[in-house]
Amino acid sequence: MRILVVEDERKIADALKKGLEAVGYQVTTAASGEDGFFCLTTEEYDLMLLDLMLPGRDGIEILQTIRKKGIATPILLLTGRDTVEDRVLGLDSGADDYLVKPFAFPELLARIRLLLRRGNQEPQHAFKLDDLELNLLTHRASRAGQPLELTAKEFELLEYLLQNQGQVVSREMLAQDVWQIRERSTPLDNVIDVTIARLRRKVDGPFEKKLIRTMRGVGFCLGGTEHV
Ligand code: CA
Repeated sequence: MRILVVEDERKIADALKKGLEAVGYQVTTAASGEDGFFCLTTEEYDLMLLDLMLPGRDGIEILQTIRKKGIATPILLLTGRDTVEDRVLGLDSGADDYLVKPFAFPELLARIRLLLRRGNQEPQHAFKLDDLELNLLTHRASRAGQPLELTAKEFELLEYLLQNQGQVVSREMLAQDVWQIRERSTPLDNVIDVTIARLRRKVDGPFEKKLIRTMRGVGFCLGGTEHV
């Protein structure tokens, strides 16, 4: 696992390098944001430790540039300041986590392990809500162990509802994300409503507990607190 440490204070950078190498990571250090950005764009790293206060372009600017370029390397921000504003700004700018100096080295290691684990996760291919299950690999959906006979569109719709379970999904969202049509229209709304109704018959029809809810005037919701 390769870690890039961007830190202008030599003592801290050296201590981090030494400590991380001692537990088996390969570490490269950069003393400015520009150097760090250059390293990240020329070599592969599994994680970046980024100091917030850097000479020249600060950590936030570097962070924003990295994310704008579409580089998804997990980034842990290190900072001497601890204010809510800094924290929010850092996370909003694309940091994955945040650690305030001085920190205990074991805590840094724990955060690093967590981010590396998260970064290596496979994309989700199975979804579950109560006794409703959907598997993208086998392209099967079932409820209470009984297979659901779904059309391709119904399957796609159910997958989308499961991905957003517990949240309200509007017709606009369904039009864009499931039907891939940007323009709202009455005929499209009708198609969406009919598909939802068919899906609901198959998913909820024979079962006492209803999972798909209509949120009047807003859209639909799969799961959530009350099952009406
Ligand atoms: Ca600094």
